Amino acid sequence: MSETTPSLFTRIINREIPAEILYEDELCIVINDIAPQAPVHMLVIPKQEIARLVDAAHSDQSILGHLLLVAGEVARQFGVDDAFRLVLNNGADAGQTVFHLHLHILAGVKGSTEFSEVNIGS
Ligand code: AMP
Repeated sequence: MSETTPSLFTRIINREIPAEILYEDELCIVINDIAPQAPVHMLVIPKQEIARLVDAAHSDQSILGHLLLVAGEVARQFGVDDAFRLVLNNGADAGQTVFHLHLHILAGVKGSTEFSEVNIGS
């Protein structure tokens, strides 16, 4: 891990770095990925800094569940709830570049599966 704290995403959450914030609640934000790999490419980011999924503790169970529920909600909100993928890269060798846990939501235009083979972080 090479990133210092606060992480890039914490600085976005704190409005120190601009981003397109699509959703926010007390536990997480959803932003548009700056380099989209699919027609719809959003990131679900907990406000709590957890570097990688393997760094999460059992006490993080509710926040991890919350991220999945929010992913479903924003997929519905953006009209892609019939077909989307979630990607979570854990570790640099798996393509993780920002060491603040996040879910990628990937979707295409309706009826298209062009996003289904996208490999995030490679
Ligand atoms: P990962 O490779 O899984 O760690 O994903 C990090 C993601 O963050 C990549 O898809 C980047 O394109 C995205 N990203 C990096 N910087 C920004 C930024 N300032 N705003 C939005 N997305 C970003």
